[in-house]
Amino acid sequence: MAHGRQLPLSRRSLLGGTAALAGAGTLTATATGTASAAPAAASRTVDVVIVGGGLAGLTAARDLVAAGRTVAVLEARDRVGGRVLGLTLPNGGVTEGGGEFIGPTQDRIKALADSLGVATFATYNTGKNLLYKDGKKSAYATDGLLGSVPPVDAAGLANAAIVQASLDDMAKQVPVDAPWTAAKAAEWDRQTFESWLRANAVIPSAKFLLDVACTSIFSAEPRELSLLFVLFYIAAAGNEQTPGTLERLTETANGAQELRFVGGSQLVPIKLAATLGDRVVLNAPVRTIARSGSSYVVTADGVTVTAKRVVVAVPPPLAARISYDPLLPAGRDQLTQRLPMASVGKAIAIYDTPFWRADGLNGQVVSDTGAVSSTFDNSPPDASYGALMGFIEADKMRALDAAPADTVKAAVLADFATYFGDRAKTPTSFVLQRWNNEAYTRGGPVSIAAPGVLTQYGPALRAPVGGIHWAGTETSIHWMGFMDGAVRSGERVAKEVLAEL
Ligand SMILES: Cc1cc2nc3c(=O)[nH]c(=O)nc-3n(C[C@H](O)[C@H](O)[C@H](O)COP(=O)(O)OP(=O)(O)OC[C@H]3O[C@@H](n4cnc5c(N)ncnc54)[C@H](O)[C@@H]3O)c2cc1C
Repeated sequence: MAHGRQLPLSRRSLLGGTAALAGAGTLTATATGTASAAPAAASRTVDVVIVGGGLAGLTAARDLVAAGRTVAVLEARDRVGGRVLGLTLPNGGVTEGGGEFIGPTQDRIKALADSLGVATFATYNTGKNLLYKDGKKSAYATDGLLGSVPPVDAAGLANAAIVQASLDDMAKQVPVDAPWTAAKAAEWDRQTFESWLRANAVIPSAKFLLDVACTSIFSAEPRELSLLFVLFYIAAAGNEQTPGTLERLTETANGAQELRFVGGSQLVPIKLAATLGDRVVLNAPVRTIARSGSSYVVTADGVTVTAKRVVVAVPPPLAARISYDPLLPAGRDQLTQRLPMASVGKAIAIYDTPFWRADGLNGQVVSDTGAVSSTFDNSPPDASYGALMGFIEADKMRALDAAPADTVKAAVLADFATYFGDRAKTPTSFVLQRWNNEAYTRGGPVSIAAPGVLTQYGPALRAPVGGIHWAGTETSIHWMGFMDGAVRSGERVAKEVLAEL
């Protein structure tokens, strides 16, 4: 990665760069020597200031630097990666607390990881899946015609297959770059996914399958989502050559859960930030973006940056918490008032071995009960220890946002024991990541749209406001909501800005 002109170093920027190079660790008293003293406000002048050091912001910075522009990336947290987070375990391993899997057609995150030397490996997918429904557990193979679709009754399967085909067909009619222009956009955007499912997934077991698909894709209940938004999301689950499908969203083999990163997904933003050095400033939550003549003055805690262009690469509800002067157009502000984060957490239990594998199980569960209704085998590629990961989603996450961590742990381990037996009750360690409680994310995996939002406000999603440009996975036309969408949005916004500078 070519570095552009070096920026003047401030103490703060040097620390940010050091932290990024060291793996985005928390700054310590030892590192600063003067940790108790409040840092003097530093200032910089660059071509482009980027708000947010997630995959989107860092990718934009990479491309702008490669084009010879000066940049500063202001990141609120003491680490890069945003919704991509490596949790260090007591046994020295790392497991993913946020974005984790990639799959076919997610070309841009794969290319980025390749460029940084971060290898992938196949998500453990050998053996049978488990369905836990109506108090009964059944194991089923996933190499048949149904793939990983749980074998509910025949009528339900037939109904679900028709529903799935209808959703894919409707999604093909949604232009990914402007879903609000679909011929039936008004009709599809005035109903929730729930009301459409009630009319179409009429067999209860089919409704169950679609509900589970919905919560596992969006971490939102079907009643929270516009049908048009769901169709757009399906359409976006592909690339320029390959239209998206529902199946690609839900599957492990040949789907969005196919691969993981050796060493954990956060290695990608950590290594990317290292190439940017002291351009990345940590612990710098941006508070205001103010126009000053033909420039912008962006004020974060402890640092002020003046730039010709601003890239805001944070989720829409977080962008709404920044003060803008002058005010943003009403449509843009109202859009961000209407794109809440979904609700998600991940719980990972660590064991000496992935013991479920010996029982012929791949660690993947679909369940109609418990705090955890879907699980994955999150063990490292060498299986030197076992890791069971459970998603806590939507209503189930909201019910546990304020619960003591031990309460959540007990609920999760009870679920794991129901699915995998009593051995699951005694992990060697346990980690919990609740995204709703994170100051600079406030939910996840993605912002969601209820009826009326895309058709009324959609055009404001990417439209620059003066010299302020918008990035982040929520602005991507392919793989919106995913790491791939974040990278694509960074690449798109860099081109957009370069065309203007
Ligand atoms: C539990 C969970 C599971 C997921 N699973 C997957 C998966 O398996 N595969 C996949 O591809 N994707 C997954 N995702 C989604 C994926 O992680 C995101 O789509 C992607 O990381 C978003 O990147 P981003 O750069 O657009 O936004 P973010 O990662 O949210 O980055 C935004 C950055 O801006 C910072 N910020 C916020 N406000 C401010 C401010 N005022 N000033 C400065 N900085 C600010 C934040 O700290 C953050 O670092 C998952 C997400 C979650 C939460």
